[in-house]
Amino acid sequence: MTKDDRFRLMRANYKIQRLFVSVHLDAGEVVAAEATQSHYLANVLRMGPGDSIQLFNGRDGEWLARLESRSRKQLEFIVGEQLRPQPEPGDLVYCFAPLKQARLDYLVQKAVEMGAGRLQPVLTWHTQMHKISGKRLSANAIEAAEQCGILAIPEISEPIRFESLLATWAPDRRLIFCDEAHESQNPLPVLAAIGEKKLAILIGPEGGFSDQEREQLHGCSFVTAIPLGPRILRADTAAVAALAVVQAAIGDWN
Ligand code: SAH
Repeated sequence: MTKDDRFRLMRANYKIQRLFVSVHLDAGEVVAAEATQSHYLANVLRMGPGDSIQLFNGRDGEWLARLESRSRKQLEFIVGEQLRPQPEPGDLVYCFAPLKQARLDYLVQKAVEMGAGRLQPVLTWHTQMHKISGKRLSANAIEAAEQCGILAIPEISEPIRFESLLATWAPDRRLIFCDEAHESQNPLPVLAAIGEKKLAILIGPEGGFSDQEREQLHGCSFVTAIPLGPRILRADTAAVAALAVVQAAIGDWN
């Protein structure tokens, strides 16, 4: 099977609603929808008995299911055939200084859509947001996966201090540090020189990296600093820009 065949096989069907469930999925299983899901399907999407839906749980691939109603408030799914097998999780590690809530929600969703396999919040000197709800990060990751047909839900790691991130870094993974003080502006030549397949991206907070942090990063053999163009980008803009150039130049868009 060629890579294109695999791509076509793994292409999601965007015409049928997709929903994340936490339970085991297999042909014939009867899965009770949660109350919030029942309300959303019945009252927002106006779906009812006999309608089709796609279910995934991050472990068993994606399954076609049919809606049945147990009661007015409670829907359940009758699981039918498997539509797509469970793919390998993405390998890209996305390290980021947490932002204020709405921008953080956006940043998490974009990192998932762009193929991050693990999200690593990093507490830097200028980080404004120290209280992070793992539950909220996961909910945003699941929402992005539902909308974009991503079947492997990225891992959300506990926040780590900047110093610990560097001290515990696995040296076989290249840490691509988006440096707003970089002396050039085109990331592509720098990315082209990276040989490792295992990659990570690091984006700073709205206040940027401190001079000490920048010096520490430049002193690490596993770090490659890249510019993101001639202008300073907001952290959430830089997130999407960095993910796009890295995935396109040396990541999974190849
Ligand atoms: N307030 C800072 C900018 C911080 S932008 C200042 O004025 O210098 C937030 C983060 O986005 C940065 O830490 C960096 O990781 C990334 N970023 C923004 N613009 C960038 C650029 N032109 N090149 C590389 N990284 C950039």
